[in-house]
Amino acid sequence: MAQKADLERDLHDTLSRIEQAHAKPLLSTSFGAEDMVLTDAIARSHRKISIATIDTGRLPDETYQLWQSVTEHYGVKIEAFFPAAPAVESYVRINGINAFYESVAQRRECCHIRKVEPLGRMLAGHGAWITGLRRAQSAARSTLSAEEFDGANKVVKFNPLIEWSDEDVWEYLGEKRVPTHALHARGYPSIGCAPCTRAVAAGEDLRAGRWWWENETQKECGLHVAAGPIA
Ligand code: SF4
Repeated sequence: MAQKADLERDLHDTLSRIEQAHAKPLLSTSFGAEDMVLTDAIARSHRKISIATIDTGRLPDETYQLWQSVTEHYGVKIEAFFPAAPAVESYVRINGINAFYESVAQRRECCHIRKVEPLGRMLAGHGAWITGLRRAQSAARSTLSAEEFDGANKVVKFNPLIEWSDEDVWEYLGEKRVPTHALHARGYPSIGCAPCTRAVAAGEDLRAGRWWWENETQKECGLHVAAGPIA
């Protein structure tokens, strides 16, 4: 119990520090469990931290349902960023609607158009970027730092839940009665685009359901690969 209290205290201390030290801090959410912990912590304390999401155009219905629930439950505004329509139109015209299954290059191009480019617009003008990344989510994330500098977007990136376990996240969500994504109960620990995310089996890596047809080392979408530790 003491450890859980410590985690929550540390989370609020980190959010306070970010608020005080950085202009216009922003939480990016995809409405997964970790993002809901952060949304709850921010909304419950009426922090001056804005919340935004990227609507890739390929999200599952359950994500839109939770998005609506979150705005009603907390009364917060969640700003939406969308891919540039000409880029999506061109990609689909040339490659087809589901070309991301055909090669890693095509998948990365789709992620760039639908996620990475909108993220750049989302972060523009913000002095801090808050994410729900955790070390326990995957082998690729096991070496994450609590604070990093995202060179691509020129912003300091904070991962306040970096030390939280799966159990810590779900204890928080249950205790505070936080609305959660319906797909978690159907075996989806990680929430992403509908055609690129599936349920995982017991014991599998938490991100095993993302781009499941690809090699493990290739499985990031480009949103979280450019950061380096703060010197
Ligand atoms: S996760 Fe899939 S559908 Fe979504 S942007 Fe990436 S490749 Fe495209």
